[in-house]
Amino acid sequence: MVHTDYQCPACHGALLDAGLNCSACKAAYAQVKGRPILFRADNDLFSAGDYADAKPDDAAPASRKSSLTGLSVNLSIDRMIPKLLAHLGDQPQTLLVVGGGRQRGWLDPMLKAGAAHRVIYCDVDKWADVDLFCDGHDLPFADGFADVVIQTAVLEHVLYPERVAAEFARVVRPGGFVYSELPFMQQVHEGAYDFTRYTLGGHRRLLNAFEEIETGMVAGPGTALLWAIENFALAFSGGKTARRILKGAVRILFGWIKYFDHLLANKPQAMDGASCTYFMGRRAEMRRSDADIIASYRGQKHIEHI
Ligand SMILES: [Zn+2]
Repeated sequence: MVHTDYQCPACHGALLDAGLNCSACKAAYAQVKGRPILFRADNDLFSAGDYADAKPDDAAPASRKSSLTGLSVNLSIDRMIPKLLAHLGDQPQTLLVVGGGRQRGWLDPMLKAGAAHRVIYCDVDKWADVDLFCDGHDLPFADGFADVVIQTAVLEHVLYPERVAAEFARVVRPGGFVYSELPFMQQVHEGAYDFTRYTLGGHRRLLNAFEEIETGMVAGPGTALLWAIENFALAFSGGKTARRILKGAVRILFGWIKYFDHLLANKPQAMDGASCTYFMGRRAEMRRSDADIIASYRGQKHIEHI
């Protein structure tokens, strides 16, 4: 029998349910604790052998509320997820969370609030609480499989963001949706797996297969300043204990700075220094033009090149 959810990440062939073997290229895929491990054999970074001891992290955070000792605010997700769900209506839909990490604990109740939606979580992180392990560059789903793709702070950690964005456009059905949060002014936060940042304009270009419904600020210049202060302090010491003390001191002394973002959220000029932006869009027939993206800039640093 053919697996109804997943397909071969290498050749897009159908996967046979028994043993997860590809019916086309004959590649064989493993599972760990019932979770498929669907990486291409030529993936340089991830392979099935790395996931033998994978298990969900029981310490998954239950909420995403900002606290005084946290480094960021999130001005968008509590407001945007209900908006996204309103577009979906009452019929159960398939939502795919790429790079789901350990978000299921708090995200699932939000996504399933309105209807009995099916939510599938995937990630490369073997400690992630996911339904399958796969690489965003080679999503093991058929064209148009999902009604929605969600990514929050994942695309800055992938090798080729445009390729992953193209996979989003492929696996989302025409008329389906994307919700994306992507950092702009944020220091390295994922060690060696941290490659790039995007302005809101760059975020729009990356997701130009989707017609823009709404964009805005996840976290603003207050959060960016707090990150900068912490990283300034951390630059003085490589010692583990000293860094822990510095982090604690910065967050206690300056944690309040991030709350200025609540005042700045709707100020266009604040977007030029935002810590993180969001994009919600609908899968379009045509790519959005670069001229249209440039015309949609709403910061206050107006420069004319032509
Ligand atoms: Zn195959």
